[in-house]
Amino acid sequence: MAKQYRNLINGEMIETGEWLDVVNPANEEVIGQVPACGKDELDKAVAAARAAFKTWRKTPIDDRRAAIMAISAAIKENADELFRLLTSEQGKPHAQAQQEIYGAAGMAAAQSTLSLDEEVVQDDDTRLHRVRRVPVGVVGGIVPWNFPVMMAIQKIVPAMLSGCTIVLKPSPFTPLTTLRLAELIADKVPAGVVNIITGEDDLGPMITQHPDIDKITFTGSTATGKKIMEGASADLKRITLELGGNDASIVLPDADPKKVAEQLFWASFANAGQVCIAAKRVYIHEDIYDELSAAIVEYAKNVKVGDGAQQGTGVGPIQNRKQYERVLELIEDAREKGYKFLLGGEKDPSGTGYYVPITILDNPPEDARIVAEEQFGPVMPLMKFKDEDEVIARANNSEYGLAGAVWTANPDKGVEIAEQLETGTVWVNEFMHLSPFAPFGGHKQSGFGAEYGKEGLKEFTYPQAITVKRDNVPA
Ligand code: NAD
Repeated sequence: MAKQYRNLINGEMIETGEWLDVVNPANEEVIGQVPACGKDELDKAVAAARAAFKTWRKTPIDDRRAAIMAISAAIKENADELFRLLTSEQGKPHAQAQQEIYGAAGMAAAQSTLSLDEEVVQDDDTRLHRVRRVPVGVVGGIVPWNFPVMMAIQKIVPAMLSGCTIVLKPSPFTPLTTLRLAELIADKVPAGVVNIITGEDDLGPMITQHPDIDKITFTGSTATGKKIMEGASADLKRITLELGGNDASIVLPDADPKKVAEQLFWASFANAGQVCIAAKRVYIHEDIYDELSAAIVEYAKNVKVGDGAQQGTGVGPIQNRKQYERVLELIEDAREKGYKFLLGGEKDPSGTGYYVPITILDNPPEDARIVAEEQFGPVMPLMKFKDEDEVIARANNSEYGLAGAVWTANPDKGVEIAEQLETGTVWVNEFMHLSPFAPFGGHKQSGFGAEYGKEGLKEFTYPQAITVKRDNVPA
């Protein structure tokens, strides 16, 4: 029988008696079972979080930081076990799973140093007017399946730091590593401050509509984000939404193809392309298009697609069957329309495991589904452009606005273009770098609000203005 993982409610590891199977996408075998929670368990978790909020909000920030550092240490001390488990449920190769696990530990530690200082807007004979930040209360955190541990930490840490308590729901596709982490931290965090419960997708709406949850922090698709906004509107819950993206990478004619080919490859194919901030559209200046596309294809031919647990694998399987079928559908559509493939594009590679070959397209039209939609798979459309204004307009022609990149030998030129892109993050000569101290959030339909940095932390708080009138003190 597959190993059973329990949920964390009020400091205790619990089970419900009903179980959901979790599958390894590399071989489609059931590798674990998790509790199927419903309204009863959610109510218990929210009640525990509400009770814990009373004391946690008043706990000195240094003690809250210490609890976060204990979580960070637990991740690091158990990194070996955690990254292997992560590969088995998520599919990403071991090296990338290691990066996620150590990245989560590092992100927790770095974010714990943040603080929201009180602001004095007036301090004179008339009045003292202070603005301070107070925690919103009980947070509902909902995360996707592409970076389950990093996303969980991204919700748990700012909630704890700000003085909130949290009920977190992992994706039903990838709950195992998060629940193992729950077990590791159960006695390191006061009961009720962090609760982690699992269930089917219908547990999500129960969270967004729960009357005793004050804020939702969500990472996932734009379609679900819209439902969450709707669900949260009934009682005006605060919301932070990190949603989909269709990021453009723009390669200027002065970029050295030999230098950028490998980086561009990984900008598109890390985690088999299942990254919200992956390069999903790559615009290459016509002067270097042939040389650069040939260099990318040459590099790609040496990257092994396979089980992430096997040594040498660079690109693992797609995480789940639904997404696998969607990526195959986009490739099929491109083939039917007669677009040219530089690599991949074969018919469904049947067999066990959700494997999609590395797929690179040669200058498909802008309105091709594989360009206009978020592929979220190992697919890289390369497109030619002639002039800057044209490519900026093409990059901005999207309902999404998450991130983008410019590649050039002239960083000033890169910044000039970056400032014209309608996205929350733009990189010049790198990709996917996120700082714990800078806000990360989508423009347009890629999100609402931001995570990371002081701006992200503020979203777990309300401002409170307190004024003391000084020239009107009753005798
Ligand atoms: P998803 O929206 O299908 O699911 C995300 C989470 O929401 C899961 O836990 C799911 O169980 C839950 N959920 C599903 N329906 C719900 C509902 N009606 N109400 C509340 N919760 C519900 O997303 P996914 O397929 O797991 O993840 C892929 C998407 O996430 C991509 O679009 C990707 O770009 C996006 N993403 C964005 C970021 C970012 O930071 N902007 C990061 C990672 C992934």
